[in-house]
Amino acid sequence: MIEIRIHGRGGQGGVTLAKLIATSRFLQGLSVQAFGLYAAERSGAPIQAFCRYSEEPITNRNLIYEPDHVIVLDPTLVGATIMAGLKAGGWILINSPQSPGEFATQFPRNRLATVDATTIARDNNLGTRSVPIVNTALAGAVCRMLGFPPEDAYAALEHLGFRGSNLTAAERAYNEVRLLASPREIEPADELVATADTRRGPSILEGAGAALPGIKTGQWASEQPHRRQMIPPCNHICPAGNNVQGFLSALAREKPDEALAILLRTTPFPSVCGRACPAPCMEACNRIELDGAVNVREMERYAGDHGRANPEQFANREERIAVVGSGPAGLTAAYHLARFGYRVKVFESGREIGGLLRTGIPEFRLPDDVVSREINRILDLGVSVATNHEINRQALLDLARDHDAVLVATGLQERQDLRLGMDGTETVVQGIDFLDHVHRKDVRVDGEDILVIGGGNTAIDAARSALRLGAERVRVVYRRTRQEMPAIGEEIDEALEEGVTIELLTQPIALHEVPSDGIRRHYRLTCRRMQLGEPDESGRRAPVEIAGSDFDLTCHRVILALGQSPDVSVFPEGTEVREGNQLLGLLETPLFAIGDLATGDGTIAGAIGSGRRTAVHIHNVLSGEQVRISEHADALRDVDVWCDEVIHADALRMHLFERQPAAEVESLSASTRRSTFDEVHIGLEDSSEAARCLSCGVCNECDLCCTYCPEGVLKRVGHRLEFDYSYCKGCGVCMAECPRNVIFMSHL
Ligand SMILES: Cc1cc2nc3c(=O)[nH]c(=O)nc-3n(C[C@H](O)[C@H](O)[C@H](O)COP(=O)(O)OP(=O)(O)OC[C@H]3O[C@@H](n4cnc5c(N)ncnc54)[C@H](O)[C@@H]3O)c2cc1C
Ligand code: SF4
Ligand code: SF4
Ligand code: SF4
Repeated sequence: MIEIRIHGRGGQGGVTLAKLIATSRFLQGLSVQAFGLYAAERSGAPIQAFCRYSEEPITNRNLIYEPDHVIVLDPTLVGATIMAGLKAGGWILINSPQSPGEFATQFPRNRLATVDATTIARDNNLGTRSVPIVNTALAGAVCRMLGFPPEDAYAALEHLGFRGSNLTAAERAYNEVRLLASPREIEPADELVATADTRRGPSILEGAGAALPGIKTGQWASEQPHRRQMIPPCNHICPAGNNVQGFLSALAREKPDEALAILLRTTPFPSVCGRACPAPCMEACNRIELDGAVNVREMERYAGDHGRANPEQFANREERIAVVGSGPAGLTAAYHLARFGYRVKVFESGREIGGLLRTGIPEFRLPDDVVSREINRILDLGVSVATNHEINRQALLDLARDHDAVLVATGLQERQDLRLGMDGTETVVQGIDFLDHVHRKDVRVDGEDILVIGGGNTAIDAARSALRLGAERVRVVYRRTRQEMPAIGEEIDEALEEGVTIELLTQPIALHEVPSDGIRRHYRLTCRRMQLGEPDESGRRAPVEIAGSDFDLTCHRVILALGQSPDVSVFPEGTEVREGNQLLGLLETPLFAIGDLATGDGTIAGAIGSGRRTAVHIHNVLSGEQVRISEHADALRDVDVWCDEVIHADALRMHLFERQPAAEVESLSASTRRSTFDEVHIGLEDSSEAARCLSCGVCNECDLCCTYCPEGVLKRVGHRLEFDYSYCKGCGVCMAECPRNVIFMSHL
């Protein structure tokens, strides 16, 4: 993309020049933009106009801060302002009778061009003698400077309705513009310069001045604009509490390290969630109303995989905290507590840490090395770990005595049974145990005909794993319809693509052995057909048996995946295990349950959110501080008003956004997937998808409000918007032009 900034004065035609350049490129098939930043009534005041062109569609609506080239319509404006952000080697074209060499010491890093557009305009009677209009002459000079044929300028002029002397002026300027093509040619001689006029050109608007007008029109206003920040729905819904808009904005600016830093304020597991989160943020994304949700999950994966984390400085606190269970909930709590400076130790009954990230979710969805990388970042904070260390009721009391706080994050350890008649044999295995064996690589099912009972993630993961291990046929048996299946929808689709079949509305009744074929043992699962009745307490329609509909399915093995429930035997009888409940009330030590054990949420992001909330709570209890969970997630921004309303699509000005289809994610083909545990999704190569984020309710500094303010009294200074209320008439154009509903008007 090429960006050109034009500096001139009101009345010289700078905005039209931007349009002429844009038109000349548009006629060559490029994507273009041209707009001005000026105050209509202040003729003679300095103005800026902007032009962009690119072979790709342009979505950046900002003012141009780092131009490739600069054009100066009035020589009195030559100075430091025109150089702001100008790229080294870019052209500076000045309307001046002087030679470019005369500006060379002032601008040694740039190529220079000059043309006496004022004289050319006057000779062609363009404008008045006191205010000549120099834009059409400069359009010709720009074409020569940028290496385009003069016909491009003529075509643009004609396209915009300019005829006669405007074309003559453009042609003359094309021929007369003097170019100093390389900064290196400045010394010793300026060979390219044809003429050397030593006079500094006087301003064509001498005395017009750049001061604000005398009448402070702000007195007329009955309303005033302000900038606020609302809550994007993705941020609101993310169970981990991630600042989704924030990290997407950093990725859109190609800053993966900054994106990762934003994510690490809330979650230690961006690469994990970037692969396995069901992504409710995407279901809530306002962009669905335009052309499809932003692929937040893939962008989180991108930030986690490509960002580099900077080391952080933490306080050193003496208090010791024990965490029981090393799933995402326990490890997230340990991570945040360690960042607060506490000494944290994690106790895990298994041989490895990670909970279901290690023993449940299979490698083809969540590779082990990704889990290890993110866990190592937590351990690097000084968190210590004891594996093969089961905590029972007595051990929990001991931990409470020896520590300043204890968190219990033991997940859902109770498996549900169906009493099919052969439970506890090798033929009927629990899905969760089967998947653990798959991880350990010590289970064989090749050539088997397998029935998996259940409709959740465990069922689908077990079925897909069995296929990959060489099972002959895998059928999932589920008693409701596809719509009610709790497994992640995309996982069900992928399982079907790979060849898993699903027996819907089917209730298993009993399992019997049938005579063997001499090679392996065969079984018969008697099932009953179901239909959907009224919704039950889960809100899903309950399955109802159809009398006399029994039928048999044959198999070699049955995998039970009916869900898990918490094992609360570690707590005193009658303890109500819920997040936020202080447990073991008789002891003074704060003791809380977190994750699936306390919430039953059943997602990684939910476990992360629970671990973080409770870590912040414990810190507040131990330190007496009052850290708010929202402040913990998000750095405060420079806005007038924080508004805790969620912004929905109907509050956005959708017509101001361009349509752009979501980036396509590459995946292994279904046939390849059947024989490998390699990761199914390959991930996106770049972060351009993040630029689709509409930044709902959060200013992304697009500057449209500044551009359209008819008074020119709205400026962005750094990350702040400054309204000059002395001149703001309260017309509300800035509010109407803000695509993301950031500006609001208040009555005076
Ligand atoms: C097969 C499967 C697939 C899933 N897929 C997804 C998915 O794609 N996306 C998603 O968001 N969620 C998924 N989930 C759910 C997700 O894994 C859980 O919600 C999440 O892991 C819960 O985290 P947790 O820390 O609360 O518990 P867990 O991850 O269960 O960790 C609990 C830990 O505590 C340890 N422990 C238990 N008792 C003791 C004790 N007495 N002493 C010491 N340690 C103990 C356990 O060994 C374990 O390591 C899936 C679950 C399963 C089973
Ligand atoms: S954790 Fe899940 S819900 Fe939250 S931002 Fe990531 S993908 Fe979205
Ligand atoms: S467009 Fe961006 S800010 Fe808006 S909901 Fe979607 S991801 Fe969030
Ligand atoms: S307030 Fe709105 S229009 Fe103005 S810069 Fe921010 S997002 Fe853009």
